[in-house]
Amino acid sequence: MLQDISYGSLDNQYRYHQPKNEDIAVCIRGNEVLLMKSNDGILTLPSVGEIADLCSEWEFWLCEPYRYVFTMQDKRYFLWLGTSGETVPERYTYTPVATFRDPKNKDVCFAVMTAWHLYCWYRDNRFCGRCSTKTVHDDKERMMRCPSCGNMIFPRIAPAAIIALTNGDKLMLSKYAGRAYTRYGLLAGFIEIGETAEEAVKREVMEEVGLKVKNVRYYKSQPWGIAGNLSVGYFCDLDGENDSVTLDENELSSAEWFPRNEIPYEDEGISLTGEMIRIFQEGKEPK
Ligand SMILES: [Zn+2]
Repeated sequence: MLQDISYGSLDNQYRYHQPKNEDIAVCIRGNEVLLMKSNDGILTLPSVGEIADLCSEWEFWLCEPYRYVFTMQDKRYFLWLGTSGETVPERYTYTPVATFRDPKNKDVCFAVMTAWHLYCWYRDNRFCGRCSTKTVHDDKERMMRCPSCGNMIFPRIAPAAIIALTNGDKLMLSKYAGRAYTRYGLLAGFIEIGETAEEAVKREVMEEVGLKVKNVRYYKSQPWGIAGNLSVGYFCDLDGENDSVTLDENELSSAEWFPRNEIPYEDEGISLTGEMIRIFQEGKEPK
């Protein structure tokens, strides 16, 4: 999966650092991230020093200081909270964060996705939701604080269940309705306030395909910063003899049972969904 990278995990402990030229700069414009093209076609993130050079030749304005976000492989990453002009110099490209999923470039993908999650939280909490005063960055932890009413705003993560529904040797695959992403996936949905993750699995399956499930069992979780989620993966079994689907057409365009050896899916090593489908294909799912 995307977060299973060569050094184990990222160091996301909150610290205050001043950026240096060799640090990595994550520059976001709208829903796009600024990347550098290399000769071999691999996209990389620019350094703080390269951004400083860019400022001298390009319409690029610094609105706020850099904000340190995390360290990966001894490289420190900073969010650059500036903005830029429309065109970019030839060696740079703005790439939509949501579609940047290069299996050969997992470290950069994971860094971009995680920085994007933090960027969205900083962007959306510049003012206090309780009293509308401008918030300030806390010194000691990753938190926005309201200097007027004392409101403490911590990063927000939305838990979502990823559901591998099985019926003996068959797995249910589905496709979203009305989305750009058209590959098969697993049933999924947000965990609501007041319910357990296991209850969410049962509710989502009933809502999306009208089926009852049993033997709900945890598999793994995955941070999925593009959508601000923590994906929580569960396997479960069909309960009873009725396996006919009643499709929620607002959510899904299809939901079908596939025999284990006829599943039309190839895991790219990116998502929890992909890994769960693959281990079912291999007959290695938790029983
Ligand atoms: Zn306030």
